[in-house]
Amino acid sequence: MIKTLKFFVKEAGLRIKYMTSRDCIFCKLINDGGWASEPILETDSIVAVSDINPVADVHILIIPKNHIESVLTIGEKDSRDIIEMFSVAQKIVEEKKLEAFRLAFNAGRFQHVPHLHMHLLAGGKVQWSKL
Ligand code: 5GP
Ligand code: ZN
Repeated sequence: MIKTLKFFVKEAGLRIKYMTSRDCIFCKLINDGGWASEPILETDSIVAVSDINPVADVHILIIPKNHIESVLTIGEKDSRDIIEMFSVAQKIVEEKKLEAFRLAFNAGRFQHVPHLHMHLLAGGKVQWSKL
């Protein structure tokens, strides 16, 4: 009985997770393509793309291919993805010779796309209120 219950709870959890990623715009773009511009850098686990609505001269999104909802849901299993996100940021900073830059994560009501992404911002005046 307990085993059966555990099975259903796990099954429901998996379904919710699947639904979340299936309905997620970033998961869709990662899986099916269709970014407005070619990715700037892509690894096995991360994609970096220009933001379609930039709030600074350089505004790049660094996105794990795995669906992680937000900074609040990052867990041990995501550690490689998180390190890789920063490694991709380092490569872009180096390639673009950015002397000063900022990395930002939105959460709660500031986060519009519920799939973890890091904003890499540089150059000009960053319009923080629009981020
Ligand atoms: P958030 O507010 O969730 O931190 O940021 C989401 C960001 O994703 C926004 O800056 C928005 O402009 C960007 N964005 C939303 N949809 C797309 C898209 O289809 N392609 C790209 N490249 N950026 C997107
Ligand atoms: Zn997603």
